Amino acid sequence: MKKTILFAIGMALATSPAFSAEGIHWGYSGKTGPADWAKLSPEYSSCDGKNQSPINLDGFIPAKLVPLVFDYKGGSAEILNNGHTIQINARPGSTVGIDGIEFELKQYHFHAPSENLIKGKSFPMEAHLVHADQNGNIVVVAVMFTAGEANKALEKAWNQMPKTEGEKLALSSDISPLDLLPPNHAYYRFNGSLTTPPCTEGVRWVVIKDAVSASAAQIEEFARVMHHPNNRPVQSINARSVLE
Ligand SMILES: [Zn+2]
Repeated sequence: MKKTILFAIGMALATSPAFSAEGIHWGYSGKTGPADWAKLSPEYSSCDGKNQSPINLDGFIPAKLVPLVFDYKGGSAEILNNGHTIQINARPGSTVGIDGIEFELKQYHFHAPSENLIKGKSFPMEAHLVHADQNGNIVVVAVMFTAGEANKALEKAWNQMPKTEGEKLALSSDISPLDLLPPNHAYYRFNGSLTTPPCTEGVRWVVIKDAVSASAAQIEEFARVMHHPNNRPVQSINARSVLE
């Protein structure tokens, strides 16, 4: 399990264009689309699992969720276009504390439209901040975007957005991932998976309740560079609960 998760992080960090490390192509439509991911490779069998992400967050169970402790001081190193998303790799040293464990921020990336839904509502874009602890356990912090005022942190990133699949650039101006978070870090929580192959389960999902804004132009620019929606459809919640 541990090995699989570490492999998955490696995959998430990989820069190979539209292909996984073992060369198995997957996408968001047609024969290699989300409905068939599990069939593409034995490595992707988890994509048919019972604890998959994204989900429609609803039927909330009240819980005393402890406040998240963001200690994002590492900054961002590089930005890449892997054909599936635009990803920013974090420098070491940014952490979030949850369950008494420190998880280090590895990378953050974007989906348009949003992957998760909140009470059935879709958002035009969603950021995923991917963290891992020393044992390879993963926490994804999700932030929803609404169309409105331009987003300053996004503006810095989008100025350097690689337009071509497979392209990776060092960031010339620093981007603090903290600037992508809303002031209030109240959140929903559930157990899920990576939303891309190999769909590894056992991921702690944190969805920040408050959305942040991005301009319609910023959202469109991302969608244009991706050439297609990059959201996996919502998955069955099965026996899981969403805590709030
Ligand atoms: Zn994602």
